[in-house]
Amino acid sequence: MKKYDRHTCEYQPKDVIVEYSCDTLHENFTWQVIYHRKASEEDLENNHYLETVGEELWSLVAEINNCPYCGLSLRKQKIDNGEYILIDSTMGSLRVL
Ligand SMILES: [Zn+2]
Repeated sequence: MKKYDRHTCEYQPKDVIVEYSCDTLHENFTWQVIYHRKASEEDLENNHYLETVGEELWSLVAEINNCPYCGLSLRKQKIDNGEYILIDSTMGSLRVL
C-alpha cells in the first residue's frame, strides 16, 4: 500500500488526524497521528503575542501501529523495536525509544 489513506472513527477528537502518508516524518509511507493546536478566541485574549484565531500554536506528529482511539490495527508490518519517530514542533525531531 503506497498511497495516501486516512482513518477516521467515532472515538477520535475532531482536530486529530490519523493518516497513512509520507509527508512529514520520512520518505516512507507510514501510519501517523497528527495533532494541531490552533489559537482560539480565548487564547488571543490570554496571550497578546498571538495575532489571529486559527494560528498554529503547537503540533505533534507520531508514528503509530494502531489507532490510539479505537485500537484498530493499521500497520501490517508492526514497528516492534520501539523506534517510532515523533516530531514535536516545539522541540524538533526525536526518536522515541
Ligand atoms: Zn480509530
